[in-house]
Amino acid sequence: MKRIYISCDMEGITGICSDRHREIGDVFYEWGRKMMTRELNTVIDIFLKKGVEDIVVNDSHHYMMNLRIDELSSNVSLISGTHKTDSMMEGITSEFDGAVFIGYHGKSGLSNAVLSHTYSDSIIKVTLNGICTGETTLNAAFAGSKNVPVLLVSGDDKVAEEVTELKTGTRSVVTKIGITRSAGMMFHPEKIAKDYKESIEKVFKSNIKPFKIDPPYILDVTLKETQMVDIALRIPGTKRVDDSTLRFVSDDYITTYRAFIAIQTIASANYLK
Ligand SMILES: [Zn+2]
Repeated sequence: MKRIYISCDMEGITGICSDRHREIGDVFYEWGRKMMTRELNTVIDIFLKKGVEDIVVNDSHHYMMNLRIDELSSNVSLISGTHKTDSMMEGITSEFDGAVFIGYHGKSGLSNAVLSHTYSDSIIKVTLNGICTGETTLNAAFAGSKNVPVLLVSGDDKVAEEVTELKTGTRSVVTKIGITRSAGMMFHPEKIAKDYKESIEKVFKSNIKPFKIDPPYILDVTLKETQMVDIALRIPGTKRVDDSTLRFVSDDYITTYRAFIAIQTIASANYLK
């Protein structure tokens, strides 16, 4: 295993429990950013010691400028910046041997998952082929469409449940136990470092499969406001299935994912007032 792709989010990093930790400009944000960098470097160092030669990190949180290249371990490239066509999965190709998701969080609607959401707080629910999914599943399917297995996902205990449902052998590292959407039982970074080491050892000894779903891909997105649906219906191929839900269907997963990103971008826009 020589090439690893890491998508690094923030809400699932240990210590993070509040909007105040994850929003640029808040006095708590800088500490949140520091914890994100620390946990990511822990993972990078373990993979480098295992002989991985090329690691690409995609900053996958909010404006996607939380990580700084000079604060990361050497031998790492960083995809940084807000507008990326493939968002949290920008830059993944079939040339990677595996993908890793760090700092992921529970799906929209979960009351006991820390900072649960699916891409945007404007999204109430996402289903893919009838199954309610979060970012872990949507992004694992993206990697799967490139034939890349997701080796490891970290986040709270609710993320670990979503990982189990992939049925690919993907390992989980639990960084915290969700209590409410804005409170959790945090584990110490040194304990988590041991868990990452053990999990990555197991990754190298197992045969983890890419996550694949058979087409057609039927994506239903329920939005917070009915006007968001009215506006998102401008995206070719979408249709309304109820007052608050749009559907998009395609035989190509990348097309489906990009339609989803377009829907969430439009639904996140602050022009409804
Ligand atoms: Zn995030």
